Amino acid sequence: MTDRPVRTLISADRLAARVREIGAAVTDGPTDAPLTVLGVMTGGLLFLADLVRAVERPLQLGVLHARSYEGTTSGPLSVNLDTLPDLRGRRVLVVDDIFDTGQTLTRIVAALADRGPASVETAVILSKRIDRQTDYVPDHVGFEIGDEFVVGYGLDLDGEYRNLPYVGVVGA
Ligand code: IMP
Ligand code: MG
Repeated sequence: MTDRPVRTLISADRLAARVREIGAAVTDGPTDAPLTVLGVMTGGLLFLADLVRAVERPLQLGVLHARSYEGTTSGPLSVNLDTLPDLRGRRVLVVDDIFDTGQTLTRIVAALADRGPASVETAVILSKRIDRQTDYVPDHVGFEIGDEFVVGYGLDLDGEYRNLPYVGVVGA
């Protein structure tokens, strides 16, 4: 399974350069509330780790868990907020791997509003160019891609490929 060929779509160098730009944009963002960066597990983990190191300002780190895919098929969405730190009065930045239907991030943003944050922003390394039911747009998008299933840089196919340092398409 893991030795199927993967065609590179976005190289590690392009990812790193774009993450630095997003880090600078987050650094230059509003300064009135202290920053908390929340990674959406598990796919957001690699982008989270790179992005926080590109943000030049004090911040707290947290994670939450979301799950919707079985293989390449989208299933029912579950979001678990049990691991969140206290968000009251904080500028919250939610970091995920990809904006696909938008269900995951819109659900998370709505749920976080109940925790009393000063503001909630979102960042994704990838966004698919598709028609969506939601008008929500992430504040920071690394790359727009076509409507194909991608792996690497945190993104998985049945739990595999997350550690690839680039984004690619399996078996192509
Ligand atoms: P959304 O709720 O449809 O926006 O889906 C977002 C979640 O689905 C992402 O956080 C990923 O975990 C997963 N996902 C969506 N598209 C892909 C893909 O092309 N490859 C791997 N995972 C994906
Ligand atoms: Mg995810």
